[in-house]
Amino acid sequence: MGNYRIAVIPGDGIGPEVVNGTCEVLLEIGRKFGHTFRFDELLAGGSAIDATGDPLPAATLAACKRADAVLLGAVGGPKWDTLPGKSRPEKALLGLREGLGLYANLRPAVLFPQLAGASPLKEDLVSSGIDVLIVRELTGGIYFGDRGRRDGGLTQDGIAKGEEAYDTEAYSVLEIERIVRLGLSLSRGRDRRAVIVDKANILESSRLWREVTERLHPEYEDVQVEYMYVDNASMQLVRRPSEFDVIITSNMFGDILSDEAGMITGSIGMLPSASLGAPGQPGMYEPVHGSAPDIAGKNLANPLATILSAAMMLRWSFSLENEAKAIENAVSRVLSEGYRTKDIAYEEENVILGTKEMTEKVILSIV
Ligand code: NAD
Repeated sequence: MGNYRIAVIPGDGIGPEVVNGTCEVLLEIGRKFGHTFRFDELLAGGSAIDATGDPLPAATLAACKRADAVLLGAVGGPKWDTLPGKSRPEKALLGLREGLGLYANLRPAVLFPQLAGASPLKEDLVSSGIDVLIVRELTGGIYFGDRGRRDGGLTQDGIAKGEEAYDTEAYSVLEIERIVRLGLSLSRGRDRRAVIVDKANILESSRLWREVTERLHPEYEDVQVEYMYVDNASMQLVRRPSEFDVIITSNMFGDILSDEAGMITGSIGMLPSASLGAPGQPGMYEPVHGSAPDIAGKNLANPLATILSAAMMLRWSFSLENEAKAIENAVSRVLSEGYRTKDIAYEEENVILGTKEMTEKVILSIV
């Protein structure tokens, strides 16, 4: 039976509320399945700035590197909004991604049938369910490419253009290979259908993505690979969301599409995520939502996104598929019984619970 050390970063706002309950869920999994989870609670974000002056203390990063996985709540809030860019709480996220080499962001967008009414899409579009996994490249592309300001020069008619700003989309074969390999491997545990989303009709970097994927595909012959331009993909996601299985894409396209896919499944309070690096490196698991300062400390936060992030941790960092399923099934059971936090309550017969009570229901439903 396993012995796992988890670095826990509650963070700010609702972070501690949702993370503490999730640790209780993991302890229950440990009791039921005979594993030991040890939690190492660490500071990052606004609370770290208050305590140490640094959004990501060196001790936090070092402890995360030693851990088997990292569980993070959320960082940030109005209290720290006026700080200069490099000392803001969000710096902690970038520092963790960089420090742990987390090059892949996995965001499943799953519509629980019990929450079909929460989707902004028409019922007939979501009636066959939504279960999309977005695999987004996280440490390359335009967010990290060469950027700056320069003189824009002259138009053909000799008119001065004024200052010009530029950002660069650059991808190396190594960066593309590792994310495509990961996406295709993950497809194997699902429906074996992957869509590479790009803009290969215009961007040279997208054409390299296609070349690399074509070269790798024979190693993943059992996975059906399709290519789709990002503008078309954004339309198809709302037109026929049920037809997608795995989407593999660049940093910027993934950023935009994962928010779109997340929203069509209902509430931000239901969306988990994982960020993964090289094999053997600790992955980081966190809800997609932020620190929600408007509801912090009021026992109103939906803890399910964080609880489902812990299920992802069990599956992808510890290869504990049955244990991951046990959490997902418990969440599904609680929803079927009509229990809801306020953000996902839209039917009269729903029983509205607070953060703590919802967490307790999930714990009691783990079998
Ligand atoms: P947010 O996700 O915190 O909140 C957006 C809205 O969704 C709010 O109305 C909030 O009440 C609601 N909401 C969010 N999570 C919820 C939950 N679990 N249950 C119920 N309702 C929930 O986004 P925001 O308001 O733009 O940002 C607030 C702070 O969080 C900012 O400081 C921002 O920088 C930070 N942030 C952090 C992360 C992160 O740590 N990964 C991500 C996004 C935003």
